[in-house]
Amino acid sequence: MSESHVTRIAILGSTGSIGQSALSVVDTHGDRLEVVGLAAGENAERLAEQIARYRPRIVSLATASAADVLRGLSSGSNDVVFGGIGREGLVAVATHPDVDIVLCASSGTDGLEATLAAIECGKTIALANKEVLVMAGGIVTEAARRRGVAILPVDSEHNAIHQCMHGRRPGELKRLVLTASGGPFRGRTASQLEDVTAADALQHPTWQMGRKITIDSATLMNKGLEVIEARWLFDVGPDQIDVVVHPQSVVHSMVELVDGSLIAQLGVTDMRLPIQYAFSYPDRWPAPVPSLDLARRRQLDFDVPDTRVFPCLALAYRALRGEPGLAVVLNAANEIAVARFLDGRLSFPAIAQVIEQTMDAHVAAEAGTLAQVRAVDAWARDYAREIACGLQLKV
Ligand code: MG
Repeated sequence: MSESHVTRIAILGSTGSIGQSALSVVDTHGDRLEVVGLAAGENAERLAEQIARYRPRIVSLATASAADVLRGLSSGSNDVVFGGIGREGLVAVATHPDVDIVLCASSGTDGLEATLAAIECGKTIALANKEVLVMAGGIVTEAARRRGVAILPVDSEHNAIHQCMHGRRPGELKRLVLTASGGPFRGRTASQLEDVTAADALQHPTWQMGRKITIDSATLMNKGLEVIEARWLFDVGPDQIDVVVHPQSVVHSMVELVDGSLIAQLGVTDMRLPIQYAFSYPDRWPAPVPSLDLARRRQLDFDVPDTRVFPCLALAYRALRGEPGLAVVLNAANEIAVARFLDGRLSFPAIAQVIEQTMDAHVAAEAGTLAQVRAVDAWARDYAREIACGLQLKV
């Protein structure tokens, strides 16, 4: 196969859950995909293995100590460039001149600058990082429009909607319907959630994911962040985005068209599929997954989300309807609260309390530049830490 048929990719977050699934897609389609760049967090050992196997041209890590470990591990291979640490390293990997598609799957907010830099360089964006659009949806989508760059969603719900919208005109769309598994605590009452632990919350019924996003699934904040993500990806208002609980996670999401037709995308729960779709788009490639056997599934259930028990979803809608900085506040306070919950310092219901009180205290501020977004983000983190200390569990 000639060079022109090979799509050259960079993966931000290569040692994480999405990153490893992406490399599994590369294993399947080695004749179509080439790894040019890999950016990892702190797992230097796994990055060293990935370097040996995929021979990227440029790599980066989050910290200097991780970079030291990598240097000690890979003294023999001199043909890979080390692009730097932290955000600078992410930008270097994302903007490497040989890269066609950047998969943004780094966790948290550090991928923001790299995503924007990649857009400015005209790279196609395969977006798995929710924070990028929750924090800076207007900035990122405007930059992509200006540069004529496609943002292909990897989040399974948005990937489903992208598939449902393919070939349609925007005026044909009535509303989006995001499906939510409901997480491990679906059907519980508020009082039953008071004493749940991080270990309980980490038992997700249908998806294997990282720790932070798994807690977000248990609070339904993950769906809330996805509602905000959908607003920017598909340019729709909050009233055009509905959430329906669907415990089997077979229907990955749906769109309702103006004539009432509901178009859904169904599939097995395997993140390799949306990642591959983003890499192959607009083509389709075979995938090494079993066919979805609906007759054996027998039943698909749908229900309304209970926002009294899971207030985080309602907080996300509030952020979307509020001034632009409020989504930044929501996201920052959530990250602080989830980290404290994982450490055992905060109760499960206190996650939503920290977020709500931080949102209540926020004074509307400009969020039209990255610097302004970072300022709102920093304020919200500080404020959320104070609230979290006040709500801290006694041990
Ligand atoms: Mg999702």
